[in-house]
Amino acid sequence: MIIGVPKEIKNNENRVGITPAGVVAYKKGGHEVIIESSAGLGSGFTDQDYLDVGAQITKSTKEAWDVDMVIKVKEPIREEYKYFKENLILYTYLHLAPEPELTKALLESKVTGIAYETIQLDSGALPLLTPMSEVAGRMSVQIGAHFLENSKGGKGVLLGGIPGVAPGNVVIVGAGVVGTNAAKMAVGLGANVTILDVNITRLSQIDDMFQGRVRTLASNTYNIAETVKTADLLIGAVLIPGSRAPQLVSKEMIQTMQKGSVVVDVAVDQGGSIETIDRITTHSNPTYEVYGVVHYAVANMPGACARTSTMGLSNVTVPYGLQIANKGYRQAALDNPILAKGINVVNGKIVYKAVADAHGLPY
Ligand code: NAD
Repeated sequence: MIIGVPKEIKNNENRVGITPAGVVAYKKGGHEVIIESSAGLGSGFTDQDYLDVGAQITKSTKEAWDVDMVIKVKEPIREEYKYFKENLILYTYLHLAPEPELTKALLESKVTGIAYETIQLDSGALPLLTPMSEVAGRMSVQIGAHFLENSKGGKGVLLGGIPGVAPGNVVIVGAGVVGTNAAKMAVGLGANVTILDVNITRLSQIDDMFQGRVRTLASNTYNIAETVKTADLLIGAVLIPGSRAPQLVSKEMIQTMQKGSVVVDVAVDQGGSIETIDRITTHSNPTYEVYGVVHYAVANMPGACARTSTMGLSNVTVPYGLQIANKGYRQAALDNPILAKGINVVNGKIVYKAVADAHGLPY
């Protein structure tokens, strides 16, 4: 197959669909890879890095799209629709449910859309979303520590404390991928860490994992209110798949926090789990203040660590991408039901139920 990797053109998107390591894997499978010039720069990969492993570089966006399979990161934006063509395989995050225009463009042009976010293991886990949650979870603590500094509006607490001075309190609501990775970083810094979840089995795994170094609590209104009061850093990390994030922390609870404390709501991309998180912020202007508490609400946190994120994403996309490239998407899907779940649109039809339901279209 000929594989194309266009440069991402969505605002502030520095990731790229493939790393040089990914190129090596596809070349080994007998495929050609054409990369748009400078596509990797935001992630620290030069054109020469790709040339060195046998990719072709093109200055033409059209050429990077005029291939058998396009590998991207973000869903195409309007300027990219003109490159859609019948039988093109588009392998990327698609998030079609809230995107009627993109869905229509894919259906009309009969593109085969394979969405990273719906490739799903039998356990229900979403392996192509996991690395981005790992990045955001780990970032949430370093961001929180940064905004706790006085010059950033924080109360001047060093999360690890020092000998003779108590460490800061980190409270994490949600013990999934984001929450667990946040806990790892907070423990690493030496903070006092409390994590809450409604899933007690998950809390028992956390208890085993951290050997008593993290306090686990059942997530309910009482426990949340009690822990939020003394939190220096509060991290929102809940998810109810397919739904808006539940609002678990009320504005009254935020009012009980000391001034200069910090809230990082990673779940802001699903509407946020904290009442005072009422807007999405950007990397260039990431925080605002409510009741003297610094609020961080960036919905695309991994974009700020593009190199790590690109490598983490490529690690998990390449194995499925290779199956598609080696066998064609039909045979690959027949052989692997996990991959089959990723197919959202094919030959002018929606083949993923939640997307069809979202648009009121037949499935
Ligand atoms: P996950 O499914 O691994 O974990 C979610 C956890 O929330 C689960 O353990 C679940 O039991 C728990 N939960 C559900 N209801 C709860 C409640 N009432 N109280 C406490 N816990 C509850 O999900 P994840 O991968 O960790 O993702 C968490 C959120 O972070 C998602 O909304 C995801 O979209 C978001 N996210 C945001 C960014 C960003 O850049 N802002 C990046 C990656 C992920």
